[in-house]
Amino acid sequence: MGDAAAALREATQALGETSDSPRLDAELLLAHALQIERADLLLKLPELTAPAAFSALVERRRQSEPVAHIIGKKEFWGLDFQVTPDVLIPRPDSELLIEEAVRAFAARQPQKILDLGTGSGALVLAALSEFPGASGVGIDASAAALQIAHNNADALGLADRTRFLLIDWKTPDWTDSPGSGFDLILANPPYVSTDAILSRDVAGFEPHQALFAGKDGLADYRIIMPALAKLLSPTGLALLEIGFDQANPVSEIATANGYHVELKQDLGGNDRLLILRR
Ligand code: GLN
Repeated sequence: MGDAAAALREATQALGETSDSPRLDAELLLAHALQIERADLLLKLPELTAPAAFSALVERRRQSEPVAHIIGKKEFWGLDFQVTPDVLIPRPDSELLIEEAVRAFAARQPQKILDLGTGSGALVLAALSEFPGASGVGIDASAAALQIAHNNADALGLADRTRFLLIDWKTPDWTDSPGSGFDLILANPPYVSTDAILSRDVAGFEPHQALFAGKDGLADYRIIMPALAKLLSPTGLALLEIGFDQANPVSEIATANGYHVELKQDLGGNDRLLILRR
């Protein structure tokens, strides 16, 4: 008989103040310490013993470090993504983009997919896993992020259908290099107001470059939106993640640029996604 179950209970209690999901966090950390999958941890719990290293991991989490940074990975769309402080940690909310992409392309497959601000590559790689005939381009202003995206494409066996390009949309002529005629454009750009007060997990550990977009959180949308015309195929769709209170301002920018806009909510009932078509 091991003591893993007791260690898990203790850790869950210790993380109650820091985390919204203390039990899940404790399970992921213990599985990592034991170098097994979480599913196996739960199956074999009564026989397992918590290794000494577990308590140090719990302490890091207690200091607000995200679990994804401690264990170096995050599950998104059922796939494992390598994650470091150089990339935004993929959020469950962003799975809505993939869900809606799959729905929108039920009858025809996208051939070319573009991910604006790809970070870990989560969006383009999850989409490629759903559309076996497609190829994808991910662009990002961070070379360190693109290294992670590359690693993820390799690990998921999608590298032969993916290209990652170092492109900063805050420079002129940035739309010259990614290509054009994209059937599907995905983007989770920075959209947080520089005045927003984020939790310590996010503000203290995730790349600010991937989060903040000027005082009103719309700076990057003002750049991306006019560029879509050059990137999107005539029948293409752009799926853009937005903040819960940004449906109106971002729709306005889209409409002013000549797009029809459809709004989708996430599981929490918040506005989360705009679907744009010409
Ligand atoms: N959803 C993220 C957060 O609130 C923000 C992501 C983004 O700016 N694209 O932490």
